[in-house]
Amino acid sequence: MPLVLYNSLTRRKEPFEPLDAGLVRMYVCGPTVYDLAHIGNGRAVVAFDLLYRVLRHTYGANPRRTTAEFHADMAALGALPPDIEPRATAYIPQMIALIERLIAAGHAYAAEGHVLFAVASWPSYGKLARRGRDEMIAGARVEVAPYKRDPGDFVLWKPSTPDQPGWDSPWGRGRPGWHIECSAMSETELGETFDIHGGGLDLIFPHHENEIAQSESAHAGHPFARVWMHNEMLTIDGVKMSKSLGNITTVRDILANAPGEAIRLALLMTHYRDPLDWTAQKLAQARAALDRWYRALSLPSGKGQPGAFPQSIFGALEDDLNAPLAIVQLHELATRINTVGESDERATLQNALRAGGALLGILEQDPTTWLQGDAADEKEAIEARIMQRQKAREERRFADADRIRAELAAEGITLEDKPDGRTEWRRG
Ligand SMILES: [Zn+2]
Repeated sequence: MPLVLYNSLTRRKEPFEPLDAGLVRMYVCGPTVYDLAHIGNGRAVVAFDLLYRVLRHTYGANPRRTTAEFHADMAALGALPPDIEPRATAYIPQMIALIERLIAAGHAYAAEGHVLFAVASWPSYGKLARRGRDEMIAGARVEVAPYKRDPGDFVLWKPSTPDQPGWDSPWGRGRPGWHIECSAMSETELGETFDIHGGGLDLIFPHHENEIAQSESAHAGHPFARVWMHNEMLTIDGVKMSKSLGNITTVRDILANAPGEAIRLALLMTHYRDPLDWTAQKLAQARAALDRWYRALSLPSGKGQPGAFPQSIFGALEDDLNAPLAIVQLHELATRINTVGESDERATLQNALRAGGALLGILEQDPTTWLQGDAADEKEAIEARIMQRQKAREERRFADADRIRAELAAEGITLEDKPDGRTEWRRG
């Protein structure tokens, strides 16, 4: 089955074919790293991480390299590091060169230490956002500075005050506008025309519209990104996250109470183009699903066929990353594992469940580790109580031993006494 993706530019699903059969060039706008990553940042990363995982099965991987806290949080969500992670400040000369080309081609002009993009010089401005001119000007909330020829013109370069970061340029000491950064970095790393450009839905206008205008006018009209993909927004308990409401929820806040793998699955349970409402209930549901799958993986079995992922799961992902459908299929596999009994067939199904999970970036832990939970304190407390029970049994205080087992069972902890005298435990 061919990979099909929804292209924001054409507003429909299209079969995906890269420019080069063996290499996909993809660019995803990153966050401005001024604070800890919130769960909405996490959603975008997980959505495009899923696409990356699907692409690498078809086109192979080209691993080359991986702000420390952002990396740690995203790694906790199971997101693979990008092949290239450009930082805007390392591309200032390329940005200046791009701006000079835009001026030379008549698409930009310098005024009072600023350089502005002349939207009137680019007739297809607005093709991604599909907005009328007046709507775009209102949407961009542009201050109508006296040096602008047109109220819709946007900044490519702006002057810096002595206390602001700045670089020398033909227009004086200053710094780049926000949009030019992505145009210069993608051109440097991926070339004029590349395959996929991703980002959150809120970036379509003005950011992505401006990237298209800058890049295509600098490249004599050659297409910029061929497919544009946008993930929908995330709310917290039905409310948009905002500083003023004080409901900014960081990935780190959630990681304090839940494993990253459960957060990742909770994000994937909603299709990336649907709005996602983050709730404690959704997280609990994801955790319960992982408990169920890891329990199925821990069941005794025979000798199975080595694990290839089921084609139906890959097929769901090839259809514009239908992760919710892939998740339904993981549940079906777990049901079959639970009903088939200890056998070679069960082992093969377990391999398939594991491989299907790996496609989604989950189920890659040792089941025992997962089922024991990752809260080290809690684990210690449980093991201390098992020791107490052990001691009670050695001293033939069987009522005490049984009471400890019953207490643990009430908390969802199952004990299993092994023939060699050890006691193993698991959740569920
Ligand atoms: Zn960008």
